[in-house]
Amino acid sequence: MNQSNSENLIRAIVLQNAIQHNGKAVSGAILGKFLSIKPDEKKNISQISIKISVLTKEINSLSLDQQLNQFKSFQSYLPIDNPKQQKIEKPLKLKNAEHGKVITRFSPNPNFILHLGSARAAILSHDYAKAYNGKFILRFEDTDPKTKKPQLEYYENVRNDLNWLDCTPNEEYIQSKRLEIYYDVARSLINQGNAYICECSQDMFKSLLIKCESCPDRPLSPDINIKRLQKMLDGEYSEGNAVLRIRADLNHPNPAVRDWPAMRIINTDNHPHPLVKNKFKVWPLYNFSCSIDDHLLGITHIIRGVEHITNGIKQRQIYEYMKWTYPTEIHYGRVSLEKNILSKSDILEGIETKKFQGYDDPRLGTLVALRKRGFQSNTLRNLIHNVGIHPSKAQIEWSNLEAMNRKIIDPISNRRFVILSPYKLTIEGLKDVKSVILPLHPEQPIRGNRKIEIKENNGKIIVYVDKNDLMKVGVGGSLRLKGFINIQIKSINESSSANFEGYDLNNALKSKYPIIHWLPYNSFCNVKILWDDATSIKCIGESGLESEKIDNLIQMERIGFARIDEKKKDLISIVYSHQ
Ligand SMILES: [Zn+2]
Repeated sequence: MNQSNSENLIRAIVLQNAIQHNGKAVSGAILGKFLSIKPDEKKNISQISIKISVLTKEINSLSLDQQLNQFKSFQSYLPIDNPKQQKIEKPLKLKNAEHGKVITRFSPNPNFILHLGSARAAILSHDYAKAYNGKFILRFEDTDPKTKKPQLEYYENVRNDLNWLDCTPNEEYIQSKRLEIYYDVARSLINQGNAYICECSQDMFKSLLIKCESCPDRPLSPDINIKRLQKMLDGEYSEGNAVLRIRADLNHPNPAVRDWPAMRIINTDNHPHPLVKNKFKVWPLYNFSCSIDDHLLGITHIIRGVEHITNGIKQRQIYEYMKWTYPTEIHYGRVSLEKNILSKSDILEGIETKKFQGYDDPRLGTLVALRKRGFQSNTLRNLIHNVGIHPSKAQIEWSNLEAMNRKIIDPISNRRFVILSPYKLTIEGLKDVKSVILPLHPEQPIRGNRKIEIKENNGKIIVYVDKNDLMKVGVGGSLRLKGFINIQIKSINESSSANFEGYDLNNALKSKYPIIHWLPYNSFCNVKILWDDATSIKCIGESGLESEKIDNLIQMERIGFARIDEKKKDLISIVYSHQ
């Protein structure tokens, strides 16, 4: 064995363990950890055990500060865990899939932001394509400038959200820029006799449809229909006066699939499209443009919600007429988030009536809200893969989502003191205290430490503690200020006081003192916390928070995880994630 390398590794493990346990390494776990890194060393187990006990004794005799210093020189011997790269455990399998040939698409209307429900379609479509080394396409379905009007800002929002989800598309298409393609297919279908222009009023057509009867336009020749289509394109019809219909079974049990509409007129002078303004008046309906593009873009697998089953029937009809091969369809059930709103109309109404603060209101399941709270894209990915693809409904529990997120963010969150209801406390009987060193992360000494400066005056220091912690202990009770000292409470009032008892953690542990977080009176920063129920409070936190960057995740000790949202000169805004 390489004697010195192994010894350095043992030293690093013992130091790490000691720092995790307030300066006293617990030897039990060290051998296991060493062998997990160097399994070949099992043959030297007795030699290594001796080495461990010698080094543990040596390191335990050092102060925490010395241990931290020494650790800096030895931490490079430890392998680095990268918690951000979580692998999906279940292999992704699609029917009718060939390696290198799978093409999937995500096709939102850019008239709303993405939420957990839409993220499911995006993640599944992206990840299955990736698993087969295929292609993932983003297609904006923006062909209704009137009732589902697309908005410019959402094109970019969707792109950003997809990047955040790690679902960056290989190609992007925008349907409003492909209208001529749909017009060409309409001409082919008319020439085949499989589509016609219907001039009936909506009411009249409906009454015929219900009776399974043909409208007077249905038997007209392709020539007449081609002329009518040209009239539509030339703007000679007004809105509602002409519709391109696909010939279908007039006796189909579902009236929605009998001679269904494929293109209609929208007066874009009144309803301009955000990208092509009023250039076009004839617009395809969803099923028409969707089926044409699925074919032309070579989509092999359509992964979509069960609510699209009727649409699938209509789209297959176009494929049949055009002699195209229909892609493989895979349906999944609706996903809901416990006690949460994913419905577009409910979200919009809530924002309108000021019930919600915006799309990023922490009570919503929108991606922007989840992101603001510090949820990671890999959390959503793991969750969606766990739910899987099957047509039954799935309800996601918050506790589940939080547990998955905690696993990912715990290793990357610095520990910080934040006091929700600060109470001033004067401690007497201390000498020569200048600062306290605490690790930024108890299990990741590699992240370094935080130094809390203390001002001592004639054996007295003043700290802030949480009012509730003081009240629980009461006068005469003892507690430990985390990482610092044990104290006994003398009085609780506007200027509470306590006596210094000692430094020893073991005494506090033996006597089961509450271990509480605290801040020095002379050094802290102002903090605002936005809670998950959208209420907020102002309080104080350790001054080290000022060095955290926006989007950094932290654990407010004894409170929970949070994300740094905004930093102003005198105020740091934090959004609470979960416990
Ligand atoms: Zn008609």
